[in-house]
Amino acid sequence: MIGKIKELEILSSVLTPSKGERQELMNKIISYTEKFIDDIPNDPAYYFSGNEITGLNPDFIFDEEINIDFLLKEFSNKIVKSGINGASGAHLGYIPGSTLFHSALGDFIAAVTNRYAGVYFASPGAVKLENNAVKWMSSLIGYNENAKGILTSGGSVANLTAIVAAREAAGLRANDYTKSVVYLTAQTHHSVEKALRIAGMGECIKHYIGMDKNFKMISGELEKAVTKDKKTGLIPWLIIAAAGTTDTGAVDPLNEISEIAEKNRVWNHVDGAYGAFFILTERGKKLFDGIEKSDSIVMDPHKGLFIPFGTGAVIVQNGKQLFDAYSYQAGYMQDTIDKNIPLSPADISPELSKHFRGLRLWLPLKLLGISPFRAALEEKLLLAQYAYCELKKIHGIKLGPEPELSILTFRYVPKYGDANSFNKTLLEEIHKDGRIFISSTMLNGEFTLRLAVLSYRTHLQEIDMFISIIKEKIKQLSSI
Ligand SMILES: *Cc1c(COP(=O)(O)O)cnc(C)c1O
Repeated sequence: MIGKIKELEILSSVLTPSKGERQELMNKIISYTEKFIDDIPNDPAYYFSGNEITGLNPDFIFDEEINIDFLLKEFSNKIVKSGINGASGAHLGYIPGSTLFHSALGDFIAAVTNRYAGVYFASPGAVKLENNAVKWMSSLIGYNENAKGILTSGGSVANLTAIVAAREAAGLRANDYTKSVVYLTAQTHHSVEKALRIAGMGECIKHYIGMDKNFKMISGELEKAVTKDKKTGLIPWLIIAAAGTTDTGAVDPLNEISEIAEKNRVWNHVDGAYGAFFILTERGKKLFDGIEKSDSIVMDPHKGLFIPFGTGAVIVQNGKQLFDAYSYQAGYMQDTIDKNIPLSPADISPELSKHFRGLRLWLPLKLLGISPFRAALEEKLLLAQYAYCELKKIHGIKLGPEPELSILTFRYVPKYGDANSFNKTLLEEIHKDGRIFISSTMLNGEFTLRLAVLSYRTHLQEIDMFISIIKEKIKQLSSI
């Protein structure tokens, strides 16, 4: 047996590379990532033709070794050079993400050290670091000391986490679901309805509240709906308000909504996945007045704090409600349970073993301080306003509401022909061109183009390029 064990030790020893081997791998990977970063300004924002990828072998894991040079080349050609370039400052569609370098280094340290950030007993430091990150976000929102939250993989899971906490806090059971009412708008992010279904509450009543011309929930209608539903024996349970909708960046009247929620004892959830970090700016602070009175909030550091994909956050004002929904018991976990130690992510979330995702947030915030983030967010707000003014100057452009945050909508109305099909073609031409990337939506039945500014790499230069490309493509299409 000992002979076999030693043989296996030798066979598996490549899992522990030597110093020299590590250095060689790091050098090659760093030289690739450095080149990638240097090329960003000249690379397209969208690889239109790269959408049909050939040669990515589905029998992807082989028995033999493959060298790093080949793998990096494959990765670059088949993965990085296709679809949307998530690192580009000219990515102005959907909600753009960013690729903060300091976060990448945080991920590297997290993976090398592999602290177990799910349970305090296993890594008090890692859990404290993550709890402190959440505490900081909680204080930005203005929640009190009892608030508790976690870092999630993103906004969708964060919304789900809050919705399950709201369900448990209301004491709802299966036979209540068809009488339970959720108040939302047609602009609520789809992850909310998805979460309701995952939470087993797909059959609850969804009461869509009307919106004003700026796509904000009309609080008077909300109040009437809640009062009426109560009278007819339904259970007004949950209000979903947006601190910046994905489609148009509209901020619902959070203060009025929180008053209605409080008066009627309905859970008030704010989806701030896109917009909540604008609370770091003066404008955001004013717009989000009343946000501190909500019961729960979702905010995505992988949107508003520019870190790479994989980190959202959810915070519940009365943290006990999160604990009540997610705490657990198991014999093999007995060493980890102690009333005198801080709550762990595992006590208040669906996860147990998890990525130490706090580090990708902690490292950049500690290294750089908060002021560059605040400046970048203020810059995004101004860039959206600047784009709005510049688009206004283009004859034939019809604009949506003036941007409150960093998203705006617009379409071109040609003198002759169908505006919907014109804008579809316009978008396609922009995508084929690839220098910038924007996306589209349907608003009031109209095919509408969207500009969303949220990458730290987006500056005046990219917005000017966007304006000139819009002008160029309109001219080109109008002359056909
Ligand atoms: C992006 C977004 C979500 C979903 O978040 P993910 O991180 O993509 O899962 C939810 N709500 C709003 C308002 C969003 O913008």
